[in-house]
Amino acid sequence: MAQLSDDCFAFGETLTPLDDALRALHERTGPIAEMHEVPLDAAIGRILAQDVIAPLNVPPHDNAAVDGYAIYFDDLEPRTETRLPISGRAAAGHPLHRPAKRGEAIRIFTGAAMPGNDDAPDTVMMQEDCRTEGEDVIIMPGIKRGANKRFAGEDIRKGETVLHKGMHLRPQEIGVAASLGETHLHVFEPLRVAVFSSGDELREPGTVLDAGAIFDSNRFTLVAALKQLGCIVTDLGIIRDDIDSVKKALGDAVTAHDLLLTSGGMSIGEEDHVKAAVEALGSLHFWRLAIKPGRPVALGQIDSADGPVPFAGLPGNPVAAMVTFLVVARPLILRLSGARDVAPISYRVRAGFKHRKKISRREFVRAKIRTGNDGTLVAEKHGRGGAGVLSSLVGADGLVALPEDMTFLEAGSMVDFLPFTEVMP
Ligand code: AMP
Ligand code: MG
Repeated sequence: MAQLSDDCFAFGETLTPLDDALRALHERTGPIAEMHEVPLDAAIGRILAQDVIAPLNVPPHDNAAVDGYAIYFDDLEPRTETRLPISGRAAAGHPLHRPAKRGEAIRIFTGAAMPGNDDAPDTVMMQEDCRTEGEDVIIMPGIKRGANKRFAGEDIRKGETVLHKGMHLRPQEIGVAASLGETHLHVFEPLRVAVFSSGDELREPGTVLDAGAIFDSNRFTLVAALKQLGCIVTDLGIIRDDIDSVKKALGDAVTAHDLLLTSGGMSIGEEDHVKAAVEALGSLHFWRLAIKPGRPVALGQIDSADGPVPFAGLPGNPVAAMVTFLVVARPLILRLSGARDVAPISYRVRAGFKHRKKISRREFVRAKIRTGNDGTLVAEKHGRGGAGVLSSLVGADGLVALPEDMTFLEAGSMVDFLPFTEVMP
């Protein structure tokens, strides 16, 4: 089992560019999840823990790509029609049980094994391009040698590494495993994540709000997001703003969890106790990330008898919690879960808005996509800004990421757009 290196998230006190943080995260973390075997029908969404090497060729035999007639190319007249006797039949799952001979045409159907050996039909004439007369088929000239024939191993060659450790298993990867005859795959166990919210003002939905109180929303956003990433989540509820409560929650959670995730209480105000609690129980590497919305985000570890357990502390402001989950916690979770590629794909789209921003920080603008007059995609600013305006994420399609060195975005210029569907499958 891979472990976190000591002080795996140590950083200086200055604002850390997001890319530096992500590079460090990638270099210093690896899978901590155990592996187990699951049947194919339980493998969707899981992360592959072992390479899959093809034990056979796919397809296992040369076969016909169309319905028609299997013929030997050298039997054809190059410039005029050729008449050949139809003297056999091969359908999918019902091969011709003898080698085909020179000078004969075999009625063949898509997927049927090509009849015979090296000196047998090497080409399939599509039935639409022939006509039959009695027991004969009349073939037009002009076909190429080997046409409409699929080769053994054309899809996958025996011995090839087809699926790689760390891949996310989608329907197509599972289908490929089945095409190799596999019944099970080695996958990583889901990451076990404990989550709590920190704040005296937070109340459980369903209760009555007293003066100054709000409902806890972050925990519900985060639990849902974790489940979408395939984690097993323990919901530890709301923890009060005092250091002993936070320490107890963290201390209890280290057993039986692979990651602790919190929101709120991460600032350096006197009511923010998560930072101090983590420092008392392990080490905290305060990433004052150069992003908006987002600061403060912290990554660290809580010591336990079985070794350190990673900790990620997200900001309390609901939009900041969501954005930092997507850009920082998500890659951390995927790395710990065994995933190899954790960077989502952004797409270049046209900005439908102008925007002024501070230099030296990456800014994420909530956006909705529409199709412009010329057919290109245009990102429009969505909802009201502000790190606390959670409803602005409702109906948004994703985030426009504005780079550190930009101070002013001109409407009409090209920007990077990260669709939520990339990060929240
Ligand atoms: P904090 O990071 O604890 O200073 O909180 C920053 C802001 O986010 C405050 O307005 C909090 O009330 C709000 N907040 C913190 N945690 C949550 C939560 N779990 N759900 C909704 N809002 C929260
Ligand atoms: Mg707070």
